[in-house]
This record gives sequence, C-alpha cells and structure tokens, in this order.
Amino acid sequence: MSLSINLELPNGVKYDQPLGLFINGEFVRGVEGKTFEVINPSTEKVICSVNEATEKDVDIAVRAARAAFEGEWHKVTPAQRGKFLCKLADLFEENLLTLASVEALDNGKSVSMAKGDVGAAAACLRYYGGWADKVHGKVIDTEHGKFNYTKQEPIGVCGQIIPWNFPILMWAWKIGPAIATGNVVVLKTAEQTPLSGLVAAELVAKAGFPPGVINILSGFGKTAGAAISSHMDIDKVAFTGSTITGRTIMKAVANSNLKKVTLELGGKSPNIVFDDADIDEAISWVNFGIFYNHGQCCCAGSRIYVQEGIYDTFVEKFKKRIKENVVGDPFENETFQGPQVSQLQFDRIMEYIEHGKKEGAKIEIGGKRHGDVGYFIEPTIFSNVDESMKIMQEEIFGPVASIAKFKTVADAIALGNKTTFGLASAVHTKNLETALTVANSLKAGTVWVNTYNTLHAALPFGGFKESGIGRELGKAALANYTQVKTVSVNMNGALY
Ligand code: ADP
Repeated sequence: MSLSINLELPNGVKYDQPLGLFINGEFVRGVEGKTFEVINPSTEKVICSVNEATEKDVDIAVRAARAAFEGEWHKVTPAQRGKFLCKLADLFEENLLTLASVEALDNGKSVSMAKGDVGAAAACLRYYGGWADKVHGKVIDTEHGKFNYTKQEPIGVCGQIIPWNFPILMWAWKIGPAIATGNVVVLKTAEQTPLSGLVAAELVAKAGFPPGVINILSGFGKTAGAAISSHMDIDKVAFTGSTITGRTIMKAVANSNLKKVTLELGGKSPNIVFDDADIDEAISWVNFGIFYNHGQCCCAGSRIYVQEGIYDTFVEKFKKRIKENVVGDPFENETFQGPQVSQLQFDRIMEYIEHGKKEGAKIEIGGKRHGDVGYFIEPTIFSNVDESMKIMQEEIFGPVASIAKFKTVADAIALGNKTTFGLASAVHTKNLETALTVANSLKAGTVWVNTYNTLHAALPFGGFKESGIGRELGKAALANYTQVKTVSVNMNGALY
C-alpha cells in the first residue's frame, strides 16, 4: 500500500488522498520503499511524507507508458482523446477548492491565487481537448505520378519535469498538448510540491484514461529527474525550471538517446514605463509583474525601467502601493503574498538582497524577513540599480524589484535587451508608435503592452536566448509533441 493523508485544512476542506507513485493507473509504493517529507512553507512543519520514485520506478513507469502507447492508447480516436481531456478539465473545476487548498498548503500561495491557477489549468486542458481532432498532415504535390502526404505523428513516451512555482498549472501545461497529440507521459513533480499533482492523478483515473497513459511520480531531480532525462526508452523530455538544470538535462539527453527536448527556463524580464503611461495603472501592472506569486515566476518583471520624467513620482507611488500587498497566511482571504516555497529559496533570496545592499543599490522598502515563522520575505524594492549589479542580471525568483532610470526609446530598448535571457517583457505607454517600436525590438518570447503576466491557453509562451527551446501553450505547443512523417508514393511503378 502507498502512503495516504487524511486531514481537514484550515478552510474546512477535507483532504483524503493516496500519496503513492501513480503508475499504470494505480497508486503504488516505490520499489526501494523510500519516502520523503513535504514541508508547509507557512509553518516550516512537516505536512506528510510521500512515496519517492527512484530510477527503478522511472523505468517501471516508462514500461507502463510504452505498453499503453503501443497498445490500447494507439486505438483511441483523436476525438476520444479530446473527450478525456475535457472530462479531466471538468473534474478540475469540480474539485477546484480542494486542488487550490492543497496547493496553498504545499506551495504557500494564497488559496485565492491558487484558485486562479486551477481555473487556468482546467482551461488549458479543455483548450487542448479541442485540438485533439484538429491536428492533420498535408498532401504535397511534386510531380505527375507521385502522391505525397505528411502525417503529424505523436512522439511516443514523453518525460515531463515540472517546477514548484505553479505545480498544478505546469502539470496541465505539460499534460494537455502531449495527450491531445496522442502521446503518453511520465511526469515528475517538483520535490518541494508533490501534493496537488497527486490529487490530479486521482482525477486522471476518474476521467477514464487507460492505465499507463498518464503516470505521475514524486521524486528528486538528481535521481528521478536525471533518470527521466537519460532514459533510453523515453522519446522526448519537456522541462520547466532553472536554466542551470535545463543545461544539465540537455547534457544528459546528448549522452543518452538524443530524445527530443523542449525547455522553458528562467528570465530577467524588463518592465518598461514611459513618461506618458497612466502611472497608476502602470504601477498596478508593475506590482503584479514582480510580486505576483511572491516573485516566483519565470517571467517576473524584475527589471523595472522608468523614464526620467516620472521616475521620482513612480518610486514614491510604487512604495505606497507595495504597502497594500498583504503578506501572510495563504488561507486568509486578503492575503496577496504567502511564504517563499522553501528554506533554500528563502536563503537564496536573502543572499541576493544582501548582495544588492553591498553593491550600493538603495533599499526603498522591505529587505527583511517578514515575521519569524515560515519563509516570508517583505516585498522589496531596490533603486539606484546599476546594470552591472548581480541583482539586475541574475534571476532572484523572489519578491525583489530593481528600478532604474532611462531617457529615450532607444535607451529603453538597449537596456531591455541587456540580458542573456529572453522570456518576457512589457512596455507601458499611451503612444502606439512607442509601444510597437519597443515590442518589435525586444528580444523576448512575450511582450506585454500596458499589462503584465496575462497568459492564456491560446497564446504561445516561451523563451528567446537562454530562456528556452520551444513554446508552451497555443497551437505552437502541439509542435513540441508531434513529429512529421512524409509518405511518398510512386504511382508509375518505373524508376525513370
Ligand atoms: P530549483 O533549483 O528552483 O528547485 P530546478 O530547475 O532545479 O529548480 O527544478 C525544477 C525541476 O527540475 C524539479 O522537478 C526538479 O526535481 C528537477 N530537477 C532538478 N535537477 C534535475 C536534474 N539534474 N535532472 C532532471 N531534473 C532535475
């Protein structure tokens, strides 16, 4: 028997759930019988232990997935795949409060934010459910007597490795396009946040997916994650996480079977505010851009560039606005910012804050731990930030904003592009020409105009430069999970 949990959450939600590895449609123990503890980041206390996948379990899950792919799943029609995904989306919505509450408990984000994530996850699954029977090949004419066509075939067994910042949303972003296009998956959740993925695994069983099509493993990166990226019978690996781990995964892939790779990695995204922007609206979006999800977003707008004419007013107003961000218990209704996910992340962020101070940046507000229990950090703003500073170049992944001044459109573009990353960016202005000039010049996968963090299942999302390979979401993500087969028929029979 796998482990299980049965408790009542602070908001009255009853949480009764097996905590095993979900392999071949069942919750099972790991072969080596290992478990690991899951910590509540708000209290620093252990919530429960979950079964841990090791290399052997990855192998068992891959065999189950392979058998499903070559067997029953192969016979399921595209329309039926779509129905399964839509059913799963319905079940996400029916279980929205449970999923959101478990996410709040495990990750530390507020229940209200987590509800948004679950809603977006359901929308993503439904969106890809709609695509399932709309992915076709082409007929390509070349010459008389030849009949050529292409097919969009599934890649096969897909290993998927997801991070801890949006556990349930990343689960859906990965599962949706893979299943719509006829693949099977072995997905590893992040070791910091395995719980919501297991609730979702139970919903997979309820939705009626054949066993082995979707397998969910709790486990660590260096063991289970590495086993996925180097497995000889996994055809594709999709990863979301840090750039450094993305590099490790690519090396493992290069040294194993050259499986297909897509990576959604880090960022250091510029958020550019021009003098003519609606300053209050811009501040709301800038605030949301960096402090949403406690700064733990790969697309966080962490480099804030403000044009010189409004710079001083902006900094003063922004400081006032920050004070409205309620930091505290994720189960309280008014909470905007909960704890960071782990002690390790807390320590990393505090180190960056110390570094910023030493390098001469000015703390406008925040900079300290919030309270004395839990991994809470005050929303922090640095001004007088120089381009060469570590806090302006490296991804902090916490509630830390750095603000600098610029003069012209050309300066804004040059500063915006002064990074090795290229995931997202934003420009705030009322001038259409300025907006489009900047949007067309920034080297980033997404440019938001007078908004921030507004993602949608239909809009492709992914990185230029060192922020990744491939695109999540939208029609674009289907390409990550299909391979083109060309069939060329000689109708004449003769060689010449
Ligand atoms: P963080 O440092 O914030 O935990 P990572 O990018 O290392 O971010 O983690 C994101 C995901 O990658 C997690 O599921 C983690 O277990 C996994 N991971 C970490 N290291 C490796 C690795 N060497 N190979 C495969 N997956 C890994």
